[in-house]
Amino acid sequence: MTATRVPGVPEIEDGVLISTNPATGEEAGRVPAADADAVAATVARARQAAAWWQGLGFTGRKARLLRWRTLLTQRIEELARITGQETGKPEADAIVEAVGAIEHIDWAAHHAKAVLGPRRTRTRLLTAEHVGHIEYLPYGVVGVIGPWNYPILTPIGPISSALAAGNVVVFKPSEYTPIVGQWLADTFAEVVGEQPVLQVVHGMGDVGGALCRSGVGKVSFTGSTATAKKVMAACAENLVPVVIEAGGKDALIVDADADIPAAAEAAVWGSMTNAGQTCIGIERAYVVAPVYDQFVAAVVEKAGKLRTGHEIGPITMPRQIDIIRDHIDDALAKGGRAVLGGAGAVQPPYVAPTVLVDVPADSAEIRDETFGPTLTITKVADTDEAVRQANDTPYGLGGAVFGKADAVRIARRLRAGMVAVNSSLTFVGMGNLPFGGVGDSGFGRIHGEDGLREFARAKSITVRRGPSMLPAMTFERTPAQVARIVKAVKLLYGRKR
Ligand code: NDP
Repeated sequence: MTATRVPGVPEIEDGVLISTNPATGEEAGRVPAADADAVAATVARARQAAAWWQGLGFTGRKARLLRWRTLLTQRIEELARITGQETGKPEADAIVEAVGAIEHIDWAAHHAKAVLGPRRTRTRLLTAEHVGHIEYLPYGVVGVIGPWNYPILTPIGPISSALAAGNVVVFKPSEYTPIVGQWLADTFAEVVGEQPVLQVVHGMGDVGGALCRSGVGKVSFTGSTATAKKVMAACAENLVPVVIEAGGKDALIVDADADIPAAAEAAVWGSMTNAGQTCIGIERAYVVAPVYDQFVAAVVEKAGKLRTGHEIGPITMPRQIDIIRDHIDDALAKGGRAVLGGAGAVQPPYVAPTVLVDVPADSAEIRDETFGPTLTITKVADTDEAVRQANDTPYGLGGAVFGKADAVRIARRLRAGMVAVNSSLTFVGMGNLPFGGVGDSGFGRIHGEDGLREFARAKSITVRRGPSMLPAMTFERTPAQVARIVKAVKLLYGRKR
């Protein structure tokens, strides 16, 4: 069996999921594969654990989450090594990814109580005899379905918020990265051994589908737009709410007053880090005419120094290579030019850095998610045109703007959930910023205050503190009292401003 195994393609043999390195074919590890019954049993165990975890309160959970944060930090090199073995990504990239995850655990642990804990609302005049109280309660069991490209950071965003909010989690890692997923759950169990608060179920897409149908209170999905629709359909059967973090086609805009070397550096990093397999990766650059040549030259110079097998790791999911090749071929066939890389850049399991110019707007390189180390650079007359072209996509995840005077104004006009000004991708590493997209990139938010609220439902309580001056909600109100209500409402809201 081993002789026929394709490097990087996971296989299930005798109920065991075997994960291999996409560059070397070396086995990264094996884990038991689940079926629908195993998923149901795992969720049943999680339900038992949920009451205990919720009972710890914000303070008890914070202490335990911070212990997990500390453990991950102490073992960051080990985590990076395992991630490198399974995905092929350079260990430096895995370290950066792990640092982001640690930041999110820390932020969620520290802020859950302030964001979600009970608080009183301000009095409203028409109901002044009542006090309002709000608190955010956990869903119970949250299902987290994750992708392979950032197997530490993408699940830990929702997992840390969900746990801090008082939920327990059943996590289905991508079949391409089960070993990293298992390591995360195992380390959590080292610091929270009493109950199965974070569990993992392994397998192919059907296991994710089973998780959606298992009676969990909410599902957090990160992956492709196509799979997101299947996840939503499965969740719709039981009206299970979902948060969807899907793909992107992010653009970087360069204005005339930009620092061009810095813009080129950010464009190269944003498009080539993790071999371009980044949901918020920069895939398109729109550059105003006066600085276009200088920008292209700087990008080619910087990207030309990156070597496959060193800074550029392999394509983790082998079938993605065909998509990247198709996009490059289609761009060249339609009149685009490769100023770096090009058709010969695809050498499985690697794709060398590829920079394309003059690529028509209707080509796949401009329209669809490529998910490889490629960047298109398009010359535009002004930033209005840049914004129009950047926004001309069904996706709307992230983006970047380089410039001085107008950069923030341009950032605000991008149809995207997040934008970095004078850097790229930065927002994903800031624990206090919500993360998520619009359109085909999904909806709902992870990270930050919105991320915490995503994993809790608001509960409102009113408490009477005296008799009603304007008794509207009773059959015992008199005509005189109704007249007083009319007078009061006209006084409050009926006057022209
Ligand atoms: P997929 O959509 O193929 O898979 C994502 C997860 O869903 C995997 O765990 C997968 O399992 C599972 N799955 C597959 N089919 C089903 C199903 N029918 N029901 C439930 N779950 C299912 O995405 P990739 O793993 O290929 O990840 C790459 C994509 O993720 C890119 O489009 C990228 O842009 C996006 N992404 C978005 C991010 C964001 O935050 N917005 C962040 C990172 C990536 P299995 O692998 O076993 O098939």
